Amino acid sequence: MSWKSCGFRRVGVAGIVALVVYATVLPGRLSRVPAGEVYELVIASGRVMDPESGLDAVRNIGVRAGKVSAISAEGLSGKAVIDAKGLVVAPGFIDLHEHGQQPRNYQFQARDGVTTSLELEVGTDDVPKWYAAREGKSLINFGVSVGHIPVRMKVLHDPGTFLPTGDAAHRAATPGELAEMSQEMEKGFRQGALAEGMGVNYTAAATHSEIVDMFKIAAKYRASVHVHLRYAGMKEPTTGLAALEEVLAAAVATGAPLHVVHITSMGLRYTPDLIAMVEGAQRHGLDVTTECYPYTAGSTSLESAVFDAGWQEGMGITYKDLQWAETGERLTAETFEKYRKQGGVVVIHSIPEEAARTAVANPIVMIASDGTWTVGPKVHPRGQGSFARVLGHYVRDEKALDLMTALRKMTLMPARRLEKRAPVFKDKGRIRVGSDADITIFDPTRIIDKATYEEPLQYSEGIAFVLVNGVPVVKDGQLVDGVLPGRAARAPILQ
Ligand SMILES: [Zn+2]
Repeated sequence: MSWKSCGFRRVGVAGIVALVVYATVLPGRLSRVPAGEVYELVIASGRVMDPESGLDAVRNIGVRAGKVSAISAEGLSGKAVIDAKGLVVAPGFIDLHEHGQQPRNYQFQARDGVTTSLELEVGTDDVPKWYAAREGKSLINFGVSVGHIPVRMKVLHDPGTFLPTGDAAHRAATPGELAEMSQEMEKGFRQGALAEGMGVNYTAAATHSEIVDMFKIAAKYRASVHVHLRYAGMKEPTTGLAALEEVLAAAVATGAPLHVVHITSMGLRYTPDLIAMVEGAQRHGLDVTTECYPYTAGSTSLESAVFDAGWQEGMGITYKDLQWAETGERLTAETFEKYRKQGGVVVIHSIPEEAARTAVANPIVMIASDGTWTVGPKVHPRGQGSFARVLGHYVRDEKALDLMTALRKMTLMPARRLEKRAPVFKDKGRIRVGSDADITIFDPTRIIDKATYEEPLQYSEGIAFVLVNGVPVVKDGQLVDGVLPGRAARAPILQ
């Protein structure tokens, strides 16, 4: 059944009796269903795929009080029923790296199957304020790290808005400033930050010793450090590989878990070498993980330290490979200078297709969008289409990886990355009795991203239903108005 014809129907008490749904019975792990039970919502006859148990079979799911309360091969009764015949029923996608944390961003993300959106790379310098701004007002679940970048900007009085442009990028910190930064980071953790954010390329003057200090604090709170590496690219001695060595060493020395963000835009042509380093570190017992987005371009602020002298040689690109997000125009030496003074977002066409494909297909590399913080007319499409692009383009069309592996990379693996620090993630990223009813239901034959560099503000297609804490936020392929079921995904708050 195509997703357009899937019905979501609400029935009266009289109709409940008639709503016994017969599913194809396949062997697998089942829950015991009490006779006569009527669930708030039933997802009927879908192909349920759970990367944790390996379940891949037609099942009926009963939802109650925001949780999965039954998984059965037999029919279940519900006050409302989603007919999921022919559709895949997967855990909702968890995006570890999403700067777009406004209501409009959440709409695009929900249409791309995301049920939990996390800003862990840049993060915030004020954890309670960040959560308070979204509590009770959000379509999907949300969470944040305490960020070394914003904390350094605050302590060194940097004039930048989102990323540093002044002292936080270009000046070493004094001992007093280092102490103040450490206090701010500790405060963020005590207030429930999910992780530690770090972007050494943006805070280029931060010394190696400052980085190790920040890892020590993360280790104390069992928090993973989500790092944009010190260098990206191919020119010795400032290669992505050299930068990876810095944070691997910091992780080994301090015991802090390490998560390397967007490994493709760090490694470029050498992405396979960086992934091999992460794999090797894992094999030798280090808690290190990584992620990628499924595109051949990156994106960031033109005024940031990433474009300090030497960027062309470092990344192996030049002006024409930069696209000004406001207009879509490719840059020249002249417009580069003009726009760098003005400040704004560029799309950076720097990642070889082979590198993107290698990372997307690799079972240890998670999928995370790195969606941009603005909703301009020509922003990078990744915040709108990353997950549908992996499932439609790379799984179905290119056969670069299988569907269960892809789902694992966007559900179970991100949940496991965070669950030691934030136990709320033990109930996310899987479909089992007792898990949160964050569920994405899609047509594997139709799912695809529609957002492009030319027309980035397009919803993905083929995602029929998305539930957040048991509440549909996408129904019959359309956003549902007037529902805000998203909850804070936060680590325990300490006194
Ligand atoms: Zn980054």
